[in-house]
Amino acid sequence: MQAPILVTGGAGYIGSHTVRLLASQNRKIVVLDNLVYGHDQAIVDPGVELVVGDVGDRDLLRGLFERHRFGAVIHFAAFAFVGESVTDPLKYYENNTAEPVVLLQVMQEFGCKVFVFSSTCATYGVPNKVPITETNTQNPINPYGRSKLMVEQILADCDHAWGLRSACLRYFNASGSSADGLIGEDHRPETHLIPRVLMAVTGEIEFLEVFGTDYPTPDGTCIRDYIHVDDLASAHAMALDHLAEGGASVRCNLGTGVGVSVREIINAAEEITGREVPVKYGPRREGDPPMLVADPSLAKELLGWEAVHRDVRDMIRPAWLWMSGPRKGRFPANGSAS
Ligand code: UDP
Repeated sequence: MQAPILVTGGAGYIGSHTVRLLASQNRKIVVLDNLVYGHDQAIVDPGVELVVGDVGDRDLLRGLFERHRFGAVIHFAAFAFVGESVTDPLKYYENNTAEPVVLLQVMQEFGCKVFVFSSTCATYGVPNKVPITETNTQNPINPYGRSKLMVEQILADCDHAWGLRSACLRYFNASGSSADGLIGEDHRPETHLIPRVLMAVTGEIEFLEVFGTDYPTPDGTCIRDYIHVDDLASAHAMALDHLAEGGASVRCNLGTGVGVSVREIINAAEEITGREVPVKYGPRREGDPPMLVADPSLAKELLGWEAVHRDVRDMIRPAWLWMSGPRKGRFPANGSAS
């Protein structure tokens, strides 16, 4: 039998979709989540154990490793509001950088040497070339990106020092949700484009503000690479397999390689919902590079992974199902019945 896997932040958006996939592959999963941003209702498989607690809680971690003897850790737990990271950087360095150090210390103590890490295209900052390859300079422009890059560097040092093998998966714009509408994206506050476009359609917000129309792009709005959350989930499963089979540490981009503008997202949402998106055009948002698009070829070469969903309509459709279905894009408050 395979050793169990510890998934931190498994009750969050990308974590919960990954946990569902891994559970469907009959892997034994224990989720550690403090439920600050995660939702207990996002853990839908009865065989998955949810432990409520912090990644920096050494005694709790020791108890879990003692009991389960994990073969691998997937580490999602992190804060991810870029603006907040600028105003409260220490919160990000504590949660996103210092707490994983405690986790790594406990892994070392228990001889657990496989780590899959949620990294981000924010580690590149303003790219020196697009599409972005893994050889692009990593020069993050905010504490959030730096808090993640530091962990990447720590992981490389641990590989050198004690043979920790890791996969740093640099996500582009995670989007979409499970096809059955059972789980989905529920950030509070919600800052991401696709859910906000759909919130403007349902009337939950008065209008979508488009941040900047004077970028050097064909329609003047920013271009991003939207990657389906289920594709991100499959990349984690493949990274685990790669490392479990003795593969070396990898760092790779997870994107589709397709760039889509804010205007194109709005048009696709109007097509899918059959309704108009109320829009206001505003100034640029500070820190937004005009274009972030992945070259995802290394992930294919090293992990055999590539995105199945390549059209943003494939991401917007399930997001709309989640947003317009019984849950209206919201999990109930943690701890309450659905
Ligand atoms: N965006 C926008 N209005 C919003 C939210 C986002 O115009 O209410 C734009 C944002 O400027 C960026 C793109 O949509 O160009 C994607 O932003 P998001 O916050 O979803 O992800 P990010 O690329 O910042 O990680």
